[in-house]
Amino acid sequence: MIASLLTRPVSKVPDRVNFAGRVLFLTEDPALLRRQLAGEDLPFDPEAPIGSELHPRLRDNISTDEITPAYICYYFDETLGDFPYLGLKAGEEFPIVRGAVKRGGFVCSVSGKRRGKGSSREQSPYAEMMAGIRLVIAENIERIYRENCQNLGVFTSTDFSLIERVRRGEEIALAEFTRDEGEISKGIIEYGGLFNYNVARLQGKATVPSVTTKPRPMTIAEKIFARHWVVDASRGKTGVAAVKPGDQGFVRTDIRFSHEYVTPMAAIFFDELVGRNEPVNDPSSVFFFRDHLTFLDQVMRPEHVQMGLLDVANQLEKTQREFAAAKGIKLYGQLEQRLNLHGALSAAGSEAICHSKILEAHALPGQVIIGSDSHTPHAGAVGCIAFGVGTTAIFNSWITQDVRVEVPPSFKVIVRGEKPENVTAKDFMLEILRHPYIKDGHAIGQIIEYAGEAVASLSVDERATMTNMAAEVGAFTGIIAPDEKTVEYLTTQRGMRSEDVRKLMHGLFSDAGADYVKVIEIDASALKPMIALPGDPGNGMYIEELGRDVAVDIAYAGSCTAGKKEDMDMYARVFQEALDRGETVKVRTYIQCGSREVFEYCQQRGYDKVFADVGAIFVEPSCGACINAGPGVSRTKDEVTISAINRNFPGRSGPGQLYLASPFTVAASAVAGKIVEWRPMVPVGSS
Ligand code: SF4
Repeated sequence: MIASLLTRPVSKVPDRVNFAGRVLFLTEDPALLRRQLAGEDLPFDPEAPIGSELHPRLRDNISTDEITPAYICYYFDETLGDFPYLGLKAGEEFPIVRGAVKRGGFVCSVSGKRRGKGSSREQSPYAEMMAGIRLVIAENIERIYRENCQNLGVFTSTDFSLIERVRRGEEIALAEFTRDEGEISKGIIEYGGLFNYNVARLQGKATVPSVTTKPRPMTIAEKIFARHWVVDASRGKTGVAAVKPGDQGFVRTDIRFSHEYVTPMAAIFFDELVGRNEPVNDPSSVFFFRDHLTFLDQVMRPEHVQMGLLDVANQLEKTQREFAAAKGIKLYGQLEQRLNLHGALSAAGSEAICHSKILEAHALPGQVIIGSDSHTPHAGAVGCIAFGVGTTAIFNSWITQDVRVEVPPSFKVIVRGEKPENVTAKDFMLEILRHPYIKDGHAIGQIIEYAGEAVASLSVDERATMTNMAAEVGAFTGIIAPDEKTVEYLTTQRGMRSEDVRKLMHGLFSDAGADYVKVIEIDASALKPMIALPGDPGNGMYIEELGRDVAVDIAYAGSCTAGKKEDMDMYARVFQEALDRGETVKVRTYIQCGSREVFEYCQQRGYDKVFADVGAIFVEPSCGACINAGPGVSRTKDEVTISAINRNFPGRSGPGQLYLASPFTVAASAVAGKIVEWRPMVPVGSS
């Protein structure tokens, strides 16, 4: 416990809030956006027909990539206030420029469905806050983004009638923002953010309601929450008999991790709010990663270099490294520098992408893991609860070792039957993502539990593609109950004893009679290789439904989602078949592993030679092109990429058109020069 926090003055915000300022409608029409930025206040009547003059069409699905594009997140202080919505696409335009929102005097920002989807980056609400936005109103709001807003002290609401009241300068009761919230979220809003709330909690001023749920049939996720439920923070007591959806509290974490995009901002918060010389609570269970930006110097646009963005980005690495050293935290860093093609010193990749290494080396069945990244659910592939949180939550977990949760409802996706050989976990996910339950936002904040014989037959690597993409579902997390495949993975991958793994797995299954708000069934045998059209992972269709040839300029085969050992097996298999036919790739093709361990696996199996022979570029591990920061990004809006990454929001991997697909499809399309499905021919190594 950090003693100085126990005597720190802390108080609630006033119980009436006055939002003095303008309302910004994030519209589909770029002209309407420009008019607002020029000073015009648009009329708005939520009851008027959508698309009419009184009710302009609002942008749905605004991702955090659009609120703060990746390059904006190189900043980690109040400078972010110059940049909100720079990546916001309206029609075919990006009408919001640097400083425009701040200059406009806006206090409230309004949009449509699924506000804040995508990455968990807290830079997005922080940039909005620093530009003057204090209230976000949307039809529905993604969980991590909403929590990040609350943690920072930004108000959120789905009540469009507030718009007129804000415009009238009316004082609004704080209770209107806490009415539908549980006790903890209410407390966080009342104390103006998570840190103040936690200080009040440590001082006994804010009390956490105890859980009184009687024993009941539980899902595997609920069981893990119950085991980790903090009963008495001061004595380290955890564990309750049962929880149910809606129960609120704090859970003790087993692992907390963050990467260079987040650690520096959290470190600033820590130094400023806690104290530069104070220790982090149990540093042995905290991990840092230098994974997102190691190749940035090779792809940053010259105008961005001139703006000084490369220097700003390099500060992220330095700040994280220094904080790790000062606090005794394990850092998976960048690999040694080497001379690049231009004779300059250049980074050579990362030891590992965070999710890849957490699964490879740390996650265990039954754990609770938090990470500063929306794809943290990746580790759920071994039957743990792993979920993404924002900067403020990570920074607070360094103090308390726990994290707040409201137990989400669970829904189950059962994938039955036997899948065709050329269908993969990625195809399962593209099929799931186009289901109306997910597309319409019903799954936001829920736990997706995958089951069924087609899931049971997947390896842990393939399962991780499914749990990873729980982020695209908008789910709180994804989980698969551990089984013999988990035992096999942990014994071969980590050298664990099988009896030790089975001990951890004890009781980790969903009870008969456990509650699911929805069950979706999919027949794996009826599936075919899929793609998602550019713009959203939910734009899935069978390749055969494309009905036209789509020529490809770039093929990208990597990332945390698709840079695992089994993904490499798939690329190598397709490319070896091409070589056996005397073919090579027809487009620029990049292969990038999730970790050095996978890279070495490829070398041991001779895949590096297969990749070189087929004409692909084998890149050292890093997030790279997946975050528009490495080899494989598009350069113009006309370039077409086929990619095995997990999301294709506008601008995600450059300005071009990005189609999502499975590792098999990406490799086959690289060879064909256009989007095609892979049809099995001969195994790798066969003649
Ligand atoms: S590879 Fe892509 S999705 Fe995975 S952690 Fe890196 S940026 Fe995020």
